[in-house]
Amino acid sequence: MSSSVALRLPSIDGLLRHPACVPLAERYGRDSLLTGLRQLLDELRPGVLSGQLAAVEIGPEVLAGRVGERLAQQQRSQVRRVFNLTGTVLHTNLGRALLPEEAIEAVQMAARYPLNLEFDLSSGKRGDRDDLIEGLIRELTGAEAVTVVNNNAAAVLLTLNSLGARKEGIISRGELIEIGGAFRIPDIMARAGVRLHEVGTTNRTHARDYQAAISPRSGLIMRVHASNYSIEGFTARVPTAELAELAHAHGLPLLEDLGSGSLLDLTRWGLPAEPTVRQALLDGADIVTFSGDKLLGGPQAGLIVGRKELIAKIKKNPLKRALRVDKLTLAALEAVLGLYRDPDRLAERLPSLRLLTRPQADIHAQAVRLQPLLAEILGPAWQVSAVEALGMIGSGSQPVARLPSAALCCRPQVSKRWRGRYLLNLEAALRGLPIPVLGRIDDDALWLDLRQLDDEPAWLAQLAQLQVDR
Ligand SMILES: *Cc1c(COP(=O)(O)O)cnc(C)c1O
Repeated sequence: MSSSVALRLPSIDGLLRHPACVPLAERYGRDSLLTGLRQLLDELRPGVLSGQLAAVEIGPEVLAGRVGERLAQQQRSQVRRVFNLTGTVLHTNLGRALLPEEAIEAVQMAARYPLNLEFDLSSGKRGDRDDLIEGLIRELTGAEAVTVVNNNAAAVLLTLNSLGARKEGIISRGELIEIGGAFRIPDIMARAGVRLHEVGTTNRTHARDYQAAISPRSGLIMRVHASNYSIEGFTARVPTAELAELAHAHGLPLLEDLGSGSLLDLTRWGLPAEPTVRQALLDGADIVTFSGDKLLGGPQAGLIVGRKELIAKIKKNPLKRALRVDKLTLAALEAVLGLYRDPDRLAERLPSLRLLTRPQADIHAQAVRLQPLLAEILGPAWQVSAVEALGMIGSGSQPVARLPSAALCCRPQVSKRWRGRYLLNLEAALRGLPIPVLGRIDDDALWLDLRQLDDEPAWLAQLAQLQVDR
């Protein structure tokens, strides 16, 4: 190698003027390009000084190409669409419910124009944002009043703090649940300033247990939907109606955190029974809280419904201001609630219900249709089959119930020793697609549950780009 001519990096000025860089400046801005070039040259300098880099590796076109890739990467949105083929429909980590077109239009309107968020158009006076959905909620649940906050965790926190601060909250041991790590009933109670008074045992709690706990220190009785776990066998639980009677006999409110809470009886669509908000209120619960983006199928929100004077008290709590929902959420929520006025067409119009009720035969036919295409792309190292599979609702609704579904099951045809690596590589390759595809690994195979593969053309269009490392 000749050492007479030392290799030198191109100058920044020269690069900025180079025809390969000019379009980058136009596209990403001169400042971003400059920063990118400086970073790249700093990284390459040691290699140049030690003689490890060849001249071709630091040519202006090569450098422009590398900076262009980086700038494109940086410009790409961090919030990205994915294909949820995990088999869990209301997947908390993947954004839960998908909004219906009506709600998407309402969100666009609310984003684009000023609106009557807190303005009463009939009187011309200041209004209350909860009023925008109160009529619908009353009609759909039979509740006297409503207030909406950011999510159901906030609804529980706000309700407990408003009605039970510095007093005791009586709750069954079997209902002291944890949901998704950070939400634990005992912790929320403590943060709300309510002293936890647990009664009964994990599997059995009787009316006499609640009765014995009631004292002048009591502030409320709480009931929590077990959501993400189920107790079976030797169990006992006091029916809501009986608990309400006991609470009211002592002048205490009964709160019920329904978690998912459904507005309609889901069994009419062949889904597992889930307690409805209307029934909880009919049974005598004074306040019921539930999520907007679980079975309701709307935006993230926490709905607090029930007796008028209690809702008034909750709305006066300064915490309400800190937990309130924004205009986009309210716009979406009103549109979703509106669809519930026509239950006969709900399963066509509400995406979460449409997906939850999609017939297995339909999903299986799709799997059979797509199987040869995926098999061809994955090649002989994989066996791809269209099989029946079991999915779930997700978000704590009916944790034990399974949704009969169908999947593309991808099994690596290699010795046991290599299977794990193959599966992880396939999983990573699917995640690396322009619209990442998320499945699940189970039983030495990667499963793509097709219940939620609505947009088949987009899925197919990118499949040819799949490159799996060995
Ligand atoms: C999901 C759930 C919550 C929390 O609701 P978010 O809307 O996710 O905040 C609270 N309680 C129960 C019983 C739940 O199932």
